[in-house]
Amino acid sequence: MTKQHTVTCLSCGRSEEDFPVIVLRLAGREVHICPQCLPALIHHPDQLATQLIAAGWQSGGTVAKGRKGRH
Ligand SMILES: [Zn+2]
Repeated sequence: MTKQHTVTCLSCGRSEEDFPVIVLRLAGREVHICPQCLPALIHHPDQLATQLIAAGWQSGGTVAKGRKGRH
């Protein structure tokens, strides 16, 4: 048995065995996301910040707390 590194979507955890995943570069690492979750990353990155930070995204904290908006 070959031990292959299977990547999974950082958002929904779907494996590349089941569905195509897109490679993202993030702080010198590679993370993966499936096309279904990509819109969420585009429109609501704050909702994925936890997963991104867990993947090594150090600057993600600014997104996580950064709802600089009008009050
Ligand atoms: Zn996904």
